[in-house]
Amino acid sequence: MEAKIKAFMDEVKTRNGHEPEFIQAVQEVAETVIPYIASNEIYNGKNILLRMVEPERLISFRVAWVDDKGEIHVNRGYRIQMNSAIGPYKGGLRFHPSVNASILKFLAFEQVFKNSLTTLPMGGGKGGSDFDPKGKSDDEVMRFCHAFMLELNRHIGPNTDVPAGDIGVGAREIGFLFGMYKKIRNEFTGVLTGKGLSWGGSKIRPEATGYGTVYFAQSMLKTKNNDVSGKTVVISGSGNVAQYAAEKVIQLGGKVVTMSDSSGFIYDKDGIDEDKLAFIMDLKNNKRGRISEYVDTYSAATFHKGEKPWGVKCDIAFPCATQNELGLEHAQQLMKNGCICVVEGANMPSTADAIHAFHKAKILFAPGKASNAGGVATSGLEMSQNSLRISWTREEVDERLKGIMSDIHDSCIEFGKEDDGYCNYVKGANIAGFVKVADAMLAQGII
Ligand code: GLU
Repeated sequence: MEAKIKAFMDEVKTRNGHEPEFIQAVQEVAETVIPYIASNEIYNGKNILLRMVEPERLISFRVAWVDDKGEIHVNRGYRIQMNSAIGPYKGGLRFHPSVNASILKFLAFEQVFKNSLTTLPMGGGKGGSDFDPKGKSDDEVMRFCHAFMLELNRHIGPNTDVPAGDIGVGAREIGFLFGMYKKIRNEFTGVLTGKGLSWGGSKIRPEATGYGTVYFAQSMLKTKNNDVSGKTVVISGSGNVAQYAAEKVIQLGGKVVTMSDSSGFIYDKDGIDEDKLAFIMDLKNNKRGRISEYVDTYSAATFHKGEKPWGVKCDIAFPCATQNELGLEHAQQLMKNGCICVVEGANMPSTADAIHAFHKAKILFAPGKASNAGGVATSGLEMSQNSLRISWTREEVDERLKGIMSDIHDSCIEFGKEDDGYCNYVKGANIAGFVKVADAMLAQGII
């Protein structure tokens, strides 16, 4: 089996050798899915995984825009249309200076499995740009988004490809992108998700990724007759996912002691309560400030410049910032301090070494493609509401979200439970995600 996986990865590396994040994401899937393929006659010998690692289409384009001083800038825009076997391409747009083809291909590849796990009819895609919204005025962000959509519009559509937000793309950016799409195409359709509530957005969509991650943690803890209440929780990040993960943990009676951004983390030993979280949300969403400003208002808290929060003692950790933010040493620190459960809110925040260490120690570990699927699942619900031209209540959407997260958890158990009863959620998520897409690909023939 090892030889089979190695031969497959050698082929992937030959073609994508300069794309480390993409190779990392494929390796994780290959390790778990290739043994499954080998033992299931209907998938064996059909090169299905090899077909799945090649994007159906990769679009790269120039985005030229003018800043407030009249200077012209050029960024690179992308859309990776990875797999449309079970529905239109679906996945977020990321605006961040680190964005390149490797990062977006890893995200698009993960998205295929994640979207399949939601059980909703969505294929996988991802896009974005190396544009950095940080430090830009609202007008500059608007001009960039409009320029980006001038090209992207011809590649997307409500039945073709439905982008959404991700790092650096929130409600403000989705508004500008939607406005330009509507103007060019002269149609008001659900071509993007994460829209404002008065123009086609779904209730709970802003909360969904963070809430869903905590709902998933609840299901995991329940298998050990445990729950979130009374637990000390470490969260990284302070963007959309981290904010609503923190909100849900607080609502469930957990104590959140850290949040972070790229400059460092804050530690509040008394816990971040609802009022303090409201301060962080205003700081990040409206003032667009830095997390270090928290300690200016809450002086009992400390700011740890340039550090990650994984050395803080906790029961549960939610990495909600970005890829590869939690390495082997961090994993060891967490477990030494008694952490029993790590649930990814971001996409691929744990390195392969860290994941292997969690598995070896048999602690509860959930990969983002399962535990953060609540965001895209609620995007799927937004698409349904747009098609039906109706709007579900907050309670209705939240109930559906809870049901979807619980079903994803069950699928992980079905495919990931090992002989000793330990659930390998990585294996479970990869195989469950694979099966649905592979069946559709087989039915549709070699295309
Ligand atoms: N960017 C989010 C994710 O990683 C959401 C994608 C969407 O809603 O389409 O799943």
